[in-house]
Amino acid sequence: MALVAEAIPRALAAPARQRCMNPNCQRMVERLAAGRLPFFCGRPCREAFDYERAGLLADVAVLEAALSAGGGTYAQRRAVTVELSTRRWCLHRYMVAAGHGHTERGDVTGAE
Ligand SMILES: [Zn+2]
Repeated sequence: MALVAEAIPRALAAPARQRCMNPNCQRMVERLAAGRLPFFCGRPCREAFDYERAGLLADVAVLEAALSAGGGTYAQRRAVTVELSTRRWCLHRYMVAAGHGHTERGDVTGAE
């Protein structure tokens, strides 16, 4: 603990402002002095984030199920694989569930 505490002054300073977690928003979010640290500039962005994330997760589930079921032509399987890769690429912008403070793996992020 003491070593970590001593290292803090040498670490990169935490920024006082970060971009809103909604990938489609350019607004900044201020780091509060106390309380829960906000991820989003407001409720509409949090809700849009949740909506987009849920849609991507649902798409990934359908595409994964289709690939697991097998069948189809090579071209069809290739098309599904490409779509799955694209959805997973998009999901990298939505790794933390809004309002839950957890990552996909269930780690607590300490912020909401
Ligand atoms: Zn926003």
